[in-house]
Amino acid sequence: MLKEKRALVTGSTSGIGLAIARALAAEGAQVILNGLGDADAIAALCEELGASYNGANLMDPQAIARMMDEIGPVDILVNNAGMQHVAPIEDFPPDKWDAIIALNLSAAFHTTRLAVPGMKARGWGRIIATASAHSLTASPFKSAYVAAKHAMAGFTKTIALELATHGITANCISPGYVWTPLVENQIPDTMAARGMTREQVMNDVLLAKQPTKEFIQPEDVAALALFLCSDAARGITGANYSIDGGWTAE
Ligand code: NAD
Repeated sequence: MLKEKRALVTGSTSGIGLAIARALAAEGAQVILNGLGDADAIAALCEELGASYNGANLMDPQAIARMMDEIGPVDILVNNAGMQHVAPIEDFPPDKWDAIIALNLSAAFHTTRLAVPGMKARGWGRIIATASAHSLTASPFKSAYVAAKHAMAGFTKTIALELATHGITANCISPGYVWTPLVENQIPDTMAARGMTREQVMNDVLLAKQPTKEFIQPEDVAALALFLCSDAARGITGANYSIDGGWTAE
């Protein structure tokens, strides 16, 4: 389905981004991986997917510009890289605020502004943001993350309107809790912020949000991303697709 399409998936050395990269590669896309991680493990992923890799630090706009220049035009851009920090607002470290806004929001602006001219030239493009249920609703102690994800939803709607007549769609996918390192790593801080045990955080904070009482699987998020890349999805733009076990229905 995606033969001859070139796809950059940011934050694709782990979790949801890796699942999306695998799904796109399985459909024949030429995938460019990005993200942090062990060099040998990343080399093995490149081998597995027939992919290339660019290790740009997406908190650095100049590094993003170099990456976009080095990799050349892309047809599919998945703005997926992200991080979390959990703390009450009065204790929220300003450097964590800046890092989350840079990675979860501004990086998508920088990749998108540089990818769009090539998409316009070819009259086809797919821009997908891994947003979050937190693009639609809030949880305490996640001020930077919720702010960045709400902003991603607004950014996506804006570019969808700008690009609507160019064969380029822009959409958000908004997962609930997906079992990845990003979720696992926030458990200790959530235990501290709420005075809870690990089990209480898992059941009373995380899965309490999801009526299905199950974590979303990265592969299920990837299947939705793949659909948004299909020709059948050419009329879907500016949308924000929830895949959250019913969380935001409440
Ligand atoms: P993850 O921690 O497994 O993966 C994050 C990826 O981002 C990794 O590849 C990591 O190397 C990369 N990354 C981190 N800092 C980077 C930097 N400075 N420069 C370049 N790459 C960097 O997390 P995940 O759960 O797969 O999250 C992926 C996206 O999905 C994020 O935007 C996250 O907010 C979103 N999301 C996750 C969940 C969830 O429950 N896991 C839910 C909703 C949304």
